[in-house]
Amino acid sequence: MLAPVRRLLDAIPFDHHFARHLPGEDGPPTLPRQVHGACWSAVPPTPVAAPRLLAWSDALAETLGLASPDHPERSAAIAALLAGNRLLPGMKPVAACYGGHQFGQWAGQLGDGRAIVLGDLAAADGQRWELQLKGAGLTPYSRRADGRAVLRSSLREFVCSEAMHHLGVPTTRALALVGTGETVVRDMFYDGRAEAEPGAIVTRVAPSFVRFGNFEIFAARGDRERLRLLADYVIAQHFPEIDGADPQRYAQWFATVAQRTAVLMAHWLRVGFVHGVMNTDNLSILGLTIDYGPFGWLDVFDPAFTPNTTDREGRYAWAEQPAVAQWNLLRLADALAPLVSDTESLAAGVEAFGEQFAGEWRRQSLAKLGLLPASGQGEEMLVAELLGTLTMTEVDTTRFFRALMEVDPTAPLPADGLPPALLGSFYAAERLPARFIARLREWLAAYAARLAADGVDAVTRKTRMAAANPWIIPRNYLLQEAIDAASAGDLAPLATLMAAIRDPYTEREEYARFTARRPDWARHAPGCSALSCSS
Ligand code: AMP
Ligand code: MG
Repeated sequence: MLAPVRRLLDAIPFDHHFARHLPGEDGPPTLPRQVHGACWSAVPPTPVAAPRLLAWSDALAETLGLASPDHPERSAAIAALLAGNRLLPGMKPVAACYGGHQFGQWAGQLGDGRAIVLGDLAAADGQRWELQLKGAGLTPYSRRADGRAVLRSSLREFVCSEAMHHLGVPTTRALALVGTGETVVRDMFYDGRAEAEPGAIVTRVAPSFVRFGNFEIFAARGDRERLRLLADYVIAQHFPEIDGADPQRYAQWFATVAQRTAVLMAHWLRVGFVHGVMNTDNLSILGLTIDYGPFGWLDVFDPAFTPNTTDREGRYAWAEQPAVAQWNLLRLADALAPLVSDTESLAAGVEAFGEQFAGEWRRQSLAKLGLLPASGQGEEMLVAELLGTLTMTEVDTTRFFRALMEVDPTAPLPADGLPPALLGSFYAAERLPARFIARLREWLAAYAARLAADGVDAVTRKTRMAAANPWIIPRNYLLQEAIDAASAGDLAPLATLMAAIRDPYTEREEYARFTARRPDWARHAPGCSALSCSS
């Protein structure tokens, strides 16, 4: 079979479907203001001083049918394009208007304050993908901020978008990371010590960047007409399975959004991802992970963990995410209420989320143990009991489940203590509390009994576990190492990290060092366990 032709990015016919089909406005592009009656505002990216391509996702380029920028001249041309210094025919740069509930409060108009969609292109399979530059300059939605992004947050978003995709988690993608050659001033700790940092732009790619908040803004303003136009557009473009003429279509669509969000939440829990800012403006209508900011990964298993330093109460902690998603769905249901004759149908969708999440989590969490939700007897207790036990000492979440895979459940437990395979997942293996050891031993016995009762053989168990428990994730400290190196001009660690995350369920010797437990220096280091929104 012939390899499909890879096209150069600047030879691709672009469209701007969203802007062509929905009402927008062409007011002063960079004047911060309230924008009424528009889904978008036209705004060209602000050119940057010295764009330079720092990283490129070959995996996504392949999906889009794009040729890699493999020589310096091409790389420079692409950097100019993906910095917003150059536009192509067919593109129409726009920033979207949306609102949102932030930390439980209605925040009014937010909008793309630093993200600009250039347009969309078709992949070989016909799927259309929007290209969006994050950090591309001021828009009408920038409020008092600068429209820019720093290298550290952009690198994190670039790597993690692609990592999540390879982990099998629905997500927006990232095609490129471009350095701007300009600095951006940030007060990282909100303590008045602002510093100039290198600036960067991520090219984000998704079928759509529409969030719950795009609907909320029209509902809040009583703009039923725009609300309906946007809902009909999103259904027609992105939910072809829903009949656009069915009077029940809005409720059906909402139910689908709830279902996708439920699946997403189970994935986040499964891989140990904490989004960090689950405001309604950061929830995708397509059920994708979107807006990577102060996100983090569970190193030590702690259900109450959030990396976001501005979230003191832990509203968006790891274990809270499904409940927050449901609360956000309730806000979306409120926003869509003007479109339906009976709001009961929307309430049913919110209700169903609970069951859907429970079912999906049952499936995914049991897969982590190599079990199937077949008999439904006691398996969920087994998961809950294990997670409860793991909080009793410092366990590395990712390592523990891979290590458990290596424990032979049919072998007798050691006379005292734990199976040696597990020891590498503890932060202090030599000081494990006796109560913890006893409880985990009991659990292991119950687990072995369950596997035997369900007739799960060794090979099936291992295969299931290997597909549900990642071997590599872009740990917070690995991202920080890549950031530190890139800031000093060394892009090699970033490139190696990108290669390592491409096949995260397969153990490969050359990437073993990426599976190491969080080192001591990263325990409280900024960027590793604590992050702020200011990026
Ligand atoms: P976030 O919490 O990062 O999703 O951002 C919330 C809102 O603030 C969105 O409307 C963003 O576009 C806006 N925002 C965040 N950072 C900036 C920035 N540097 N310049 C302009 N707008 C920003
Ligand atoms: Mg956001």
